[in-house]
Amino acid sequence: MKTHVKALVVGGGAVGNGIAYHLAKAGWDTMLVERDELTSGSTWHAAGLLPLFNMGYATTHIHKYSVDFYKSLEAETGLNAGFAVVGNLRMAQNQERMDEYMLYSSVAETAGVYHEFMTPAQMKERWPLLRTDDLVGALYHPQDGYINPADVTQAMAKGARQHGVAIERKVQVDGYKWTGAEWIVSCTRMVEQGGNLVASDDTFEIRAEHVVTATGNHAQRTARLLGIKIPAIPVEHQFIVTEPDPMLVEYRKTNPEHPVLRDADAKWYVREERGGWILGPYEKGAPARFEYSVPDSFRADLFPLDLERIEAEYMAMIHRLPSSEVVGLKDDFNGPICYTPDGNPLVGPVPGLRNMWIAEGFSFGITAAGGTGYYLAQMMVNGEAEIDMASLDPRRYGSWITTEYAARKNEECYDHVFVLHHPDEEREACRPLRTAPVYDRQKALGAQFGQVNGWERPIYYGPLNASEDFDHKSRSFRRGAWWQYAVEEAKAIRETAGLIDATAFTKHVVKGPGATAFLDWFTCNALPKVGRINLTYALTPAGTTRTEYTIVRNGEDDYYLVSAGAWTAYDADFLRKCAEDKAPEFGYIEIHDVTTQWGVFAIAGPKARAILAELIKDENPATALSNKRFPWLSARRIELGMCPVNAIRVAYTGELGWELHHPIEMQRYLWDLLLKAGEKHGLKLVGARAQNWLRQEKSYRAFGNELGRDATPLEAALDRFVDLKKDFQGKQAMLDVGIRSKCCTLLIDGPSDTDPWGKEALLLDGVKIGRLTSGGYSVAFGKQIGMGYVRPDLAEVGTKLKVRMNRELWDCVVVEDSPFDPSNARIRVDG
Ligand SMILES: Cc1cc2nc3c(=O)[nH]c(=O)nc-3n(C[C@H](O)[C@H](O)[C@H](O)COP(=O)(O)OP(=O)(O)OC[C@H]3O[C@@H](n4cnc5c(N)ncnc54)[C@H](O)[C@@H]3O)c2cc1C
Repeated sequence: MKTHVKALVVGGGAVGNGIAYHLAKAGWDTMLVERDELTSGSTWHAAGLLPLFNMGYATTHIHKYSVDFYKSLEAETGLNAGFAVVGNLRMAQNQERMDEYMLYSSVAETAGVYHEFMTPAQMKERWPLLRTDDLVGALYHPQDGYINPADVTQAMAKGARQHGVAIERKVQVDGYKWTGAEWIVSCTRMVEQGGNLVASDDTFEIRAEHVVTATGNHAQRTARLLGIKIPAIPVEHQFIVTEPDPMLVEYRKTNPEHPVLRDADAKWYVREERGGWILGPYEKGAPARFEYSVPDSFRADLFPLDLERIEAEYMAMIHRLPSSEVVGLKDDFNGPICYTPDGNPLVGPVPGLRNMWIAEGFSFGITAAGGTGYYLAQMMVNGEAEIDMASLDPRRYGSWITTEYAARKNEECYDHVFVLHHPDEEREACRPLRTAPVYDRQKALGAQFGQVNGWERPIYYGPLNASEDFDHKSRSFRRGAWWQYAVEEAKAIRETAGLIDATAFTKHVVKGPGATAFLDWFTCNALPKVGRINLTYALTPAGTTRTEYTIVRNGEDDYYLVSAGAWTAYDADFLRKCAEDKAPEFGYIEIHDVTTQWGVFAIAGPKARAILAELIKDENPATALSNKRFPWLSARRIELGMCPVNAIRVAYTGELGWELHHPIEMQRYLWDLLLKAGEKHGLKLVGARAQNWLRQEKSYRAFGNELGRDATPLEAALDRFVDLKKDFQGKQAMLDVGIRSKCCTLLIDGPSDTDPWGKEALLLDGVKIGRLTSGGYSVAFGKQIGMGYVRPDLAEVGTKLKVRMNRELWDCVVVEDSPFDPSNARIRVDG
């Protein structure tokens, strides 16, 4: 048996095999170890459905790759994985569901996923066993279907072996030790004993440069072995198999198999199985399992069926397929299905560790295995994947995650599989959890909250004393009931002043003798002078955008870095690892995550200066905030009443404004002060939704939308923040990549009741030439606005394009960057 490899994959389910296959195909000497038999985790009992439907851009690519890849596996390996390309029909009982499909349709178009829409009459004609009289339509994917999960895993394993992977079964990993150059992985040979799998005395070590864990339901044990938190905890998921349905058997004598059927509003999927039906419900109340570990006695086992829990879905199947009423149950499966709090798996590097990768928490692991292997191998071998994998990155969760949080959120996620996936959805479980001190005050003033990285932050201020489900009811794929509130807030910032809570921002202090040289290499813009700030980007080694920073230089070697609120652990890990690598070259560098020590309020609008002037304690308050003493893009320590504030003169909304970074323990004091002083100036409380619209009028890119690991800052058209005179990480790669597509701002003449969400396809002469990455409503222009990426030759101002919304094409035009106040006169205004 091999004991030295380039990459060791731990876990022989679908996901582990998909990864081993692609690593080996990319040329890496790879080994896979499995504690039991291949597929003996969750893989063997999966229903094998391969749904292409997904609202996420990266996940859509992953699923699409898998479906295409599985179709090619037989030719490569000679193994037939039983891929039944029967198609997939997602039915809609109401218009809201159709709206969801229409939005999805645009996402699918951006990723090249073929799909059709069907009317109830068309469905009835093709599949007469379906009751369609209460349906409004459906989305149909003719190219997906289902596969035999064990067979496709074995086919990937065979393909992996053909590419040189050594696969060792009955080998359990029990420990990991990093030497500085490689992992020493402690292993135990497992043996059968009276039907149980037990550890033998045979222990040994495998040395691997890189390790990937794909341990399915054992993720909690893996987390303990690695000394980290992994919020992947399984939930019970059951499906039942019926006896043959005589009407189905008769129908099939002259007709092809039914597509996989999904009645999303009834929360189930159904497919044919030997003349009968398989029903898979996503019911309420499915409990989390194995919160701490999988018992030794649980091998390829199942839980008892809980028929009562799925009664409603069972009845709903009979309603939709009346012929199924007479058939009895033949079989049932209730197995653990892994989830994460947001439903996306955790794929990527482990925070704090080198060359350690995880691929855990898959709820659609059969569908995702091929694509995960493909893109993860790109990350490991090339340094980056061709798509931005941030939405799957394990570091999107911070150290604040607990077992209780993960378990309850994962149960919610399971329950939410078939809810309407509104883009403005905010899920309820485990909230509020991370709150700023002013949370209760904001709530009392009508704040409706969204959560980012666990933090509660106002998304808009609704009516006072609104019902608990006000926000829930206000959601829509079109303009929800919250829209009018956001319009008023956006107007207030343009006309008077608004106060935004930005406490969730990620904040790091970087200082020490090596700090200046390090940050100069780490970021692409020139560093600011002391007392000034700049906007800059840390690049990946592939030249794409890893993190956007506002850097405040407080002293020669003393910097304060502000980055996006959602990405604290993600940013911290990259920053620390890069600094650690560079310390021998540049000298000692200290990094402190001060995110939870500093609250942030952003005050912006024509009256912002007048409001602060009432509060500032200064020898000469009349000039303290003037352009001379406090110019745009500078930072000052000021005192507002008794609160010491690190004020930064920037505004993400494009108005005169300041960010007020304040000690978190004085937050309530400062809030009260600002509200009182702002009253007579018309200060309005403003949430994140209005802010998101306003920043698009200024073409300010947002991290996770326009900015990510699939585009360079030059592609993001941020040339003015890239100092090509200096050397910085990723510079050459950025230049080598060239301009594959270009970011631009578009004004849209869209439908009267819908704004784009930043997921829509952009077209020219009926051909897709780009996609929106942000979207919303512009108060200044009285129409829809968006930002996105298009073919470089089409990013010219004045180019007329079309955007697909609600299945129709709407006119849009590329406008100059910062269409609102392009000269920044409002931001620079003196006083
Ligand atoms: C009833 C049901 C129906 C489902 N239907 C579908 C479906 O239709 N489509 C779909 O895409 N998904 C479906 N799923 C989900 C799917 O089963 C999982 O997402 C998928 O199997 C996960 O694969 P995996 O490789 O991540 O994990 P697993 O298959 O659980 O594999 C992990 C492996 O790691 C091994 N391992 C763990 N720890 C160690 C260690 N320390 N050393 C060595 N080996 C270790 C385990 O023994 C196990 O074999 C379904 C799940 C259930 C429960």
